[in-house]
Amino acid sequence: MPIPGHIDPVPVPRTPAAREDGRIDLVGLSKDAIRTALEGAGMEPRQAKLRSKQIWHWIYNRGATDFAKMTDIAKAQHPWLAERFVIGRPDIVEAQVSTDGTRKWLLKSPDGHDYEMVFIPDADRGTLCVSSQVGCTLNCRFCHTGTMRLVRNLTPGEIVGQVMLARDSLGEWPSTPEGRMLTNIVMMGMGEPLYNFDSVRDALKVVMDGDGLALSKRRITLSTSGVVPMMARCGEEIGVNLAVSLHAVRKEVRDEIVPLNRKYGIEELLQACADYPGANNARRITFEYVMLKDKNDSDEDARELVRLIRKYRLPAKVNLIPFNPWPGAPYDCSTPERIRSFSNIVFEGGISAPVRTPRGRDIDAACGQLKTAAEKKSRAELDRLAEEKQAALG
Ligand code: SAH
Ligand code: SF4
Repeated sequence: MPIPGHIDPVPVPRTPAAREDGRIDLVGLSKDAIRTALEGAGMEPRQAKLRSKQIWHWIYNRGATDFAKMTDIAKAQHPWLAERFVIGRPDIVEAQVSTDGTRKWLLKSPDGHDYEMVFIPDADRGTLCVSSQVGCTLNCRFCHTGTMRLVRNLTPGEIVGQVMLARDSLGEWPSTPEGRMLTNIVMMGMGEPLYNFDSVRDALKVVMDGDGLALSKRRITLSTSGVVPMMARCGEEIGVNLAVSLHAVRKEVRDEIVPLNRKYGIEELLQACADYPGANNARRITFEYVMLKDKNDSDEDARELVRLIRKYRLPAKVNLIPFNPWPGAPYDCSTPERIRSFSNIVFEGGISAPVRTPRGRDIDAACGQLKTAAEKKSRAELDRLAEEKQAALG
């Protein structure tokens, strides 16, 4: 019997069309891929090897976007490079700053898709919340991104591009490990990162490369709604911290709010967490738990959460997220007293359970609650997008 709801979506595997001017954007390519691209354009292999290293350094250490600034590359070669390659940045549609310092950017891809990123400054760190897809196919009921009609995977260049743009905006070039504002990355923007695994992995490899942006894997967290078959590969091939959007401890409730649960159930998910490569007491798995009034927020739920974490012996912390409502959302946020009681029970069970403070509410910037530009689009535009989505899905 078909299960209602969108639980086994195939992410639209469309790659965006090549740039109209035919040039190749080098952002997001690995060092080897830059070298291959230079060779492909006719550069002699030994030279391509040297130039790819230099160009990499200019892109990721200096933030250069112009070949003419690359002083250790012969001047005569600058026009040759500029005719064939670019060092791009996502187009900014809108940039906003919240009264609490949180910044949000609405970005546009060359083929006209909107996606967002958010920077959240704290006293001891600055976290960039990065998107992995335009929209999301998973339709979690409390999530606004899941209501977006159009979905496309972001390319590695578009994912790395978000970090580059944040660095531009924070004035953090050249790259130095000391005194950075941007210290952490969370893959908690739009989209399900494990449904765009290859691009997310390739992008994060570029971000983690010690010769470039050099963000340590310990400072990067990938959040998944529970794509169980990809979790081991995430640990092995990317090696970043894992956050899991658990949100409920009973099957009926999780089936409703995270429909992917009908495919990969709670026990299977927790077993995959127990097996996650690299998880230990020093590197805990974060369980995200959105507090929905009268849905998943009872004391019994809290006790069941503790029981499950103990049963699977998980090195875990729990992040309680007050539900961030959006127009037409089918839930309300739990009361502060309820959240406190829930948090206390988990804490008394020996598990850290902080309540996430909402940030950037005045600009709708909370992670996982990124406002979509679709709302601002005209009816005609929405119809056109819906047709496009239909066509893409075949
Ligand atoms: N798709 C991934 C990552 C993006 S969502 C995932 O689901 O984990 C990042 C986090 O924000 C997730 O835990 C998600 O459940 C949460 N979130 C989504 N919508 C929210 C809302 N309206 N209020 C509070 N948290 C929300
Ligand atoms: Fe997608 Fe995550 Fe939103 Fe669920 S919570 S719809 S997986 S972005």
